[in-house]
Amino acid sequence: MTRAYNFCAGPAALPEEVLLQAREEMLDWHGKGLSVMEMSHRSDEFVGIAQEAESLLRELLSVPQDYKVLFLQGGANLQFSSVPLNLLGSRSSADYIDTGIWSNKAVKEAARYAKIDVIANTADQHYHRVPQQQELKFNKDAAYVHYCSNETIGGLEFDYVPVTENGVPLVCDMSSTILSRPMDVAQYDMIYAGAQKNIGPAGLCLVIIKESLLDREVSSIPTMMSYRVAAENDSMYNTPPTFAWYLSGLVFQWLKRQGGVTAIGEVNARKASKLYAAIDESRLYANPIAVANRSWMNVPFTLADTGLEKAFLKEADAAGLLNLKGHRSVGGMRASIYNAVPEAAVDALIDFMHAFEKKYYPA
Ligand SMILES: *Cc1c(COP(=O)(O)O)cnc(C)c1O
Repeated sequence: MTRAYNFCAGPAALPEEVLLQAREEMLDWHGKGLSVMEMSHRSDEFVGIAQEAESLLRELLSVPQDYKVLFLQGGANLQFSSVPLNLLGSRSSADYIDTGIWSNKAVKEAARYAKIDVIANTADQHYHRVPQQQELKFNKDAAYVHYCSNETIGGLEFDYVPVTENGVPLVCDMSSTILSRPMDVAQYDMIYAGAQKNIGPAGLCLVIIKESLLDREVSSIPTMMSYRVAAENDSMYNTPPTFAWYLSGLVFQWLKRQGGVTAIGEVNARKASKLYAAIDESRLYANPIAVANRSWMNVPFTLADTGLEKAFLKEADAAGLLNLKGHRSVGGMRASIYNAVPEAAVDALIDFMHAFEKKYYPA
């Protein structure tokens, strides 16, 4: 068996060790004679699996005691509607920062429930940088401020955590960057992240929320979308995606074995900086993002001769470098180099890019 290097933006690569462990435990989990998929979510076994995953996540991110961790469904997209329905309270508007495709989708969905004010927007600069703190013009009666810390498609990330005014809660879509490096959860009031990038398989969405925000839901909220109900039921109001939850727990164990977010953060910084250096040094490849805002996780790049894109993808595929095609909305290439993508994969990609340039685009 050979496993290729997978640069998919999501569902993304999982650590090989985790897949091997899941295979090992597949038919007979810990001598219980059944797989995790076949267990009652109310069984002691699964409740143990679920609690261990939560406590590992809390440990990895040093989640403060007054925050709830919820394991939800519907992906990050459902959060685009869950956030306003849970956090509006008696207010009718919210502030959003627009930095690209994902934050834009969040704006459009929230606008179905509230008056949304896009308080900063770098569309006129092609989303090649994020707005600075002093450009954020907050509204004092906003129910919350929402932003996306890493735009997965644009390859653009915040190099700072926005500070709101008047105690307005800060909500962050951290789908493609959570667990990629150390962070201070207390700087946010709520964080959410779809699992299929840095956490585990698709089907799960993590929410980390300050307990004091659990009393703001609008009365018409669907029960399944209520953070309060989820918190009161340990994320088991209905049948949760048990296998995805279990596998995420294995990923958290793996991450802890790597040395946690500090150690993985150092690897991630190195992976990103060598890939951007290879792009910047070449004549064929380019990345337009302001250096301070270049994503550590998603590295888009274009080819000076777009006629070479097909050959690039075909030869990359043949070399075992998969899923490098950029998002359909922006074209070009994109290498997603999440936690589970080993440094050797980035080295192999850089070698391939050099060889390809030499062959098809010689000086
Ligand atoms: C992938 C992604 C989403 C969408 O996630 P789904 O789980 O597919 O709904 C939202 N926001 C960001 C930043 C993402 O990377």
